[in-house]
Amino acid sequence: MKVSVIGLGYVGSVTAACFAEIGHEVVCVDIDENKIKNINEGISPLYEEGLRDLLLKYAGKKLIATNDYEFAIKVTDVSFICVGTPSAKNGSIDLSIVRAAVKSIGAALKTKEGYHVVVVKSTVVPETTEKFVLPILEEASGKIVGKDIGVAVNPEFLREGKAVHDFMHPDKIVIGAIDRKSGDLVSELYRTFECEVTLIDPTTAEMIKYVNNSLLATKISFANEIGNICKKLGIDTYKVMEAVGKDFRISPKFLNSGVGFGGSCFPKDVKALIGKAKEIGYSPILLESVIEVNEKQPLLMIEILQRKIGDLRNKKIAVLGLAFKDGTDDIRESRAIPVIAELLRLGANISAYDPTGSEKMKRVFPTIGYSRNAEDSLEGADACLVMTEWDEFTQLESEFEKMKKKIVIDGRRIIKAKNIDYEGLCW
Ligand code: NAD
Repeated sequence: MKVSVIGLGYVGSVTAACFAEIGHEVVCVDIDENKIKNINEGISPLYEEGLRDLLLKYAGKKLIATNDYEFAIKVTDVSFICVGTPSAKNGSIDLSIVRAAVKSIGAALKTKEGYHVVVVKSTVVPETTEKFVLPILEEASGKIVGKDIGVAVNPEFLREGKAVHDFMHPDKIVIGAIDRKSGDLVSELYRTFECEVTLIDPTTAEMIKYVNNSLLATKISFANEIGNICKKLGIDTYKVMEAVGKDFRISPKFLNSGVGFGGSCFPKDVKALIGKAKEIGYSPILLESVIEVNEKQPLLMIEILQRKIGDLRNKKIAVLGLAFKDGTDDIRESRAIPVIAELLRLGANISAYDPTGSEKMKRVFPTIGYSRNAEDSLEGADACLVMTEWDEFTQLESEFEKMKKKIVIDGRRIIKAKNIDYEGLCW
């Protein structure tokens, strides 16, 4: 089939490359000229395992990028909206980028003959597709949904860092279609996957995505709260969770306590669901606590640091890990951000290192020191904070010898080195 993918971020670029890999012809649309140029040259706009190889394989052949909506819509049968849905100031969802993309698709559809399906892959709160996207699309295109064009929701569940793998090996495919015809056409795109397709209405599909992310975020904040209690009692929370996770009703996944969740999805999506719940007159106390625990957790790193070395003014602190998780260069909502902000407020000097995330973090904190490797970052440091679970940090040993004081505070329980003054966040 012929597919257009609107928005070339983490989701859009992976979706486009993977659709090409499973045999579709793909036209990508973005407003960022640089990204378009890079994609057309087979250069990945972001760090994601396996993406570079797919882009090199298909760019300029089965996959092209453009800023021309009219062309993209005209030559394809179905368009996937993959633009960002950030948080507004009050935490609720900001749909302005979705609105712009839908208007552009609608304007391009005006002159297109024949059936076309518009699919919302961006994460949007329940009712958005039917009450927000659909009317804008009908007005901009002059066409009638259900008659001239189809509409569906197809949320994405990939993990950054494993996005290509997850797209190619889905454990669920959810399609919320406005009618049978739209649903069948979108299902057809995924024909090569063995995974069962959940065909449902658009609003339920939207809710499934939020519940998925909110439940995972809840597990993490729960594990962190238990970890904080266990630490005070001198109990190893990892041993507790290992046993608890053996219960088939619970599963051992997402029970590792640490510095909390970040990324472009969990914080934003839980806040958006809170916003939607409040909008309809419900006070979501559990979801609000999930966010509250997550916001306090990184600051506990600073409390331990102060207990160990006192006043932080002019102390050199090595921050290992800037990406919100390993395997990605994405720093959005990284737990390193509130930690670095607090260190700066308290007058510390920072030497940060991350295998992939430094360039993006330089835009947030242009004045702190960035090192080329962990060893340089640790040289002469009064203490080290471990923020991201990169595999290379698990191998660190002699590098800690370069520190002034070998104080290591681990937010991810990954440091194995001996002969250091080690303390874990919740253990
Ligand atoms: P992103 O911010 O990385 O990328 C969005 C892209 O859209 C950018 O390249 C931007 O230039 C482009 N864009 C902006 N306005 C545009 C317009 N009018 N027309 C065309 N392109 C435009 O976003 P992302 O992380 O890929 O997330 C996209 C959506 O997918 C969000 O709703 C997010 O919640 C959801 N999602 C993300 C993930 C993830 O792991 N990142 C996982 C599942 C779902």
